[in-house]
Amino acid sequence: MKNPHKMTSLRNLPSVEQLLQTRSAAELVARYGRPLTLSAIRSALDRVRKHVSKGGDTTLPDRDGLLAIADETLQEWTHPTLLPVINASGVILHTNLGRAPLSAAALTAMETVAHCYSTLEFDLATGKRGSRLVHAEGLLQRLTGAEAALVVNNNAAAVLLVLSALANRKRVVIARSQLVEIGGGFRIPDVMKQSGAKLVEVGTTNKVRISDYEDALAEPAGLVMRAHRSNFQIIGFTEEPELKELAGTAHRFQVPCVDDLGSGTLLDTAKFGMSHEPTIQESLAAGADVVCFSGDKLLGGPQAGIIIGKADLLARVRKHPLARAVRLDKLCLAALTATLLHYLKDEAEREIPIWRMIATTPEQVKARAEAWALELGQGNILESESTVGGGSLPGETLPTFVLALTVKSVEKFLESLRQGQPPVIARTEGERILLDPRTVLPEQDGALLVNLMNAMKKPAGRVRG
Ligand SMILES: *Cc1c(COP(=O)(O)O)cnc(C)c1O
Repeated sequence: MKNPHKMTSLRNLPSVEQLLQTRSAAELVARYGRPLTLSAIRSALDRVRKHVSKGGDTTLPDRDGLLAIADETLQEWTHPTLLPVINASGVILHTNLGRAPLSAAALTAMETVAHCYSTLEFDLATGKRGSRLVHAEGLLQRLTGAEAALVVNNNAAAVLLVLSALANRKRVVIARSQLVEIGGGFRIPDVMKQSGAKLVEVGTTNKVRISDYEDALAEPAGLVMRAHRSNFQIIGFTEEPELKELAGTAHRFQVPCVDDLGSGTLLDTAKFGMSHEPTIQESLAAGADVVCFSGDKLLGGPQAGIIIGKADLLARVRKHPLARAVRLDKLCLAALTATLLHYLKDEAEREIPIWRMIATTPEQVKARAEAWALELGQGNILESESTVGGGSLPGETLPTFVLALTVKSVEKFLESLRQGQPPVIARTEGERILLDPRTVLPEQDGALLVNLMNAMKKPAGRVRG
């Protein structure tokens, strides 16, 4: 017994049972339930015991002190980590911030099927089992003119599924310059390996000619693939055949041509002053037999992978066992169909948040930035650039205006912004914080300003002009 005092103090700790009898504990039980509260109280007692046995401070917390520790632990355990944020970065499809915010109609559609039963796989006409695939297929056929369509969990799954179903143990011919990594470790060569396809890379890093494909197709192949370079550009001494020529060559060798468009847009980005991102309709028109794209990039919908193309090929894709493993959930399906309807009704620019952001003119953005500066009584308005992001239109920007705040410590200011509720994500340039109204939803303006004012009150947030 080196330290009898410590032993005495630990013996004075109340038991779990004693703590549970208190009023504060009753409140915790009401809020968090009994089992979780019990675990938190045990954990609080353990922490105090460990602290003391390590030779720490021997003044023990009283009952209220112990329950305060338990309360903190309970808050920590139950605090949600998936939280809304205000995206003032100017990156429209910010992969880390959840890519595309959904339209009001998409939200309503999700809510409608979320809280009750639905016709997900039920045919009302016959009263028999239906297919979840029909809900989006009709809309996609009408929008793109494709013979068939299939939706899965995301585009990575779409590519894996298509390759597994159509090219397992077969050669897949693809340009070396298209063996891309999309992000999050999604690499086309790895996906090919996983699907059981045999990668046949043709051409060089910067140049590939139709004759390279023809040479490779002299031996039997499963398919010819094109992957869109979504997140980088190759410029300079480059060459690549048009999709039309590529598909034509594939067909001469009686091999289907698969186009992984990545973003896949239904609207022409050139209309908004950006370069032209290949559209889904163009891929089909050029002769691609199967086209894959994301639901939550330039389509502006929920996370999904969309596969459209020839009916016979899609029938094989649909039958593959992986199709079940990567199927789309009903909430995404509801949001996706509502998003597709916006295109069909020619209201995408008005109703789909990312297109509304893209279509906002620099003058409109400037007016909002000026209104923010007026409210804050701080900051300058600067010309800047918004980016589309999310693996689409690499290097492409939209002219914008930002509110610039020159602060004492950029890092500390960003941190304060992240601690706000909701947190604000901003961009920096040197000593300046840049806030781009283009990606801030209009209904978030009030919360953004409150957050900014709070950050400016802190010592590190002192604005210097
Ligand atoms: C983004 C992208 C993918 C992956 O799509 P997710 O929907 O994010 O899974 C695949 N291929 C290309 C070319 C892409 O740009």
